[in-house]
Amino acid sequence: MLFLCVIFDRFLKVSYAPYSLQFKHPFGLAYGTRKATEVVYVKLESDGFTGYGEAALPPYLAETQTSVIDFLNKAAVILKNYKLPFSMEEIISAIGTISPNDNAAKACIDIALYDLLGKSLNKAVYTLLELDKPQPKNTSVTISIGELNLIPDKLKELEEYKILKIKLGNKGDKEIIRCVREYTDKPLVVDVNQGWTDKYMALEMIEWLNNQNVLFVEQPLPKNMFDEMVWLTERSPIITIADESTLRFSDLDKIIGRFNGINLKLMKCTGLFEAVKIVKYAKEKKLKINIGCMSESSCGVSAAAQLMESADWIDLDGPLLIKNNPFFGVTFNKGKLQLNNLLGTGAILINKNLNFTEV
Ligand code: MG
Repeated sequence: MLFLCVIFDRFLKVSYAPYSLQFKHPFGLAYGTRKATEVVYVKLESDGFTGYGEAALPPYLAETQTSVIDFLNKAAVILKNYKLPFSMEEIISAIGTISPNDNAAKACIDIALYDLLGKSLNKAVYTLLELDKPQPKNTSVTISIGELNLIPDKLKELEEYKILKIKLGNKGDKEIIRCVREYTDKPLVVDVNQGWTDKYMALEMIEWLNNQNVLFVEQPLPKNMFDEMVWLTERSPIITIADESTLRFSDLDKIIGRFNGINLKLMKCTGLFEAVKIVKYAKEKKLKINIGCMSESSCGVSAAAQLMESADWIDLDGPLLIKNNPFFGVTFNKGKLQLNNLLGTGAILINKNLNFTEV
């Protein structure tokens, strides 16, 4: 009798694939306009299981595909010593010693590790994180700064979505809002991306926005204007949310008393391991939580969606904005984001032509 025996590598095998996510429409914000987001996918294999992670690298961040691949080469030396089932705490702390920054590079490893661990245990990642099962939730969708005459078409395209995110922070902010309000009375969230540089002008804008059904204003002032933010949040009739002012768990104490809440992104905070710590501490300190993304594909967004039930709002529209998503994961139905597959992060590779290079 012939026995077919497949022997899998037990120790973690690391591969990566750089990729460029193309926007359906040019994406404009206070820093400028872009047509694509560069990303790096990481694949971890062990025991016949495969986990995927993503590092999304918008150009205003310090990281690039080259820096992520460089980091992965260093991390692989550590990862190759581990096999399933591994301790997340142990690996995350070892990876953390490679460098003080490289947050997106760390996040893509963290996401792939959780995906791999979940799949090997036949569990969804939210159960590994001891979080509630994500239920379909309204996500805000972004209308970027662009030509005002494109706004009606954009609104029509996004008709089924219940919350709109408007990027402000350039000249003509009131004009953009007035134009949107000609066509819809849906609630808005406003992201200034540090674009208002004077606290008096920021307060005047916020007071004006207070009559425009705005749920929160994100990062109204430059990230280091903490004293001005105390002043502004005290007077603001609208909830203020920190984005660029807070990256990691260690930044949270700087936010308390200065903003009403945080925009939590896996790419900023090095991944799910630290995100769960942030969620718990933020709740303890009564900070509101928005879960955001860096326009990543369904790979990163499926991972972020594991945290949905802990959030006051979600802003996970990345997969909607791009036209060459190599992963299937979350879907959008009547404006709600839904996690479809409850194994690992739920992300499934559908573009089999992704070119992975083994480290
Ligand atoms: Mg933001």
